[in-house]
Amino acid sequence: MQRKIGVMGGTFDPVHHGHLVAASEVADRFALDEVIFVPTGRPWQKTGRDVSPAEDRYLMTVIATASNPRFSVSRVDVDRDGPTYTADTLADLHATMPDAQLFFITGADALQQILSWRKVDELFRYAHFVGVTRPGYELADGHLPQGSVTTVEVPAMAISSSECRARVGAGRPVWYLVPDGVVQYISKRSLYLNPDV
Ligand code: ATP
Ligand code: MG
Repeated sequence: MQRKIGVMGGTFDPVHHGHLVAASEVADRFALDEVIFVPTGRPWQKTGRDVSPAEDRYLMTVIATASNPRFSVSRVDVDRDGPTYTADTLADLHATMPDAQLFFITGADALQQILSWRKVDELFRYAHFVGVTRPGYELADGHLPQGSVTTVEVPAMAISSSECRARVGAGRPVWYLVPDGVVQYISKRSLYLNPDV
């Protein structure tokens, strides 16, 4: 049988329970065999602020997903030079598993922007898109190619990485917003102490 693989792309600076619930919920809904989290290399949309080192974001994502047998983390974007374009992510993953059916999972905010992404015509060649609800954003697939996107309602988690960074910068807790091991990793590596979110 053709394997069904979810792809959860993100900056994951840091990874939080909103990401994990979205992946888990879509995995259940689509009976996915696996969800691959793909931390970006240098995200081209986020040139305004310094993103944490890719290795830290990669390791936090590994820590957050390690206990789930269906979750894994890919280094394709971390190891590719230059800014990360999702079209390249999907092309690379497709090349390593040409027989798998790929489902790219994206929150309502990112879904609204897809048409502005680079190489947009290539995006839908390799993956079906799954748009998930996110508090504060309208989930709409109006302008995307017909049949290329399915929308899914996931438990509302009003958590963002920006808010987590701001909290750490202000000395406030991120316990229960991110997995325990990620709280400890942030502290160990002194991430986000400069509140330049
Ligand atoms: P930042 O605040 O730095 O933009 P973020 O919380 O939006 O961080 P990203 O790494 O930018 O996290 O998001 C990766 C993917 O996860 C995107 O598709 C985004 O829409 C989705 N996502 C992030 N947070 C949530 C959430 N709370 N609920 C549902 N989807 C989410
Ligand atoms: Mg974001």
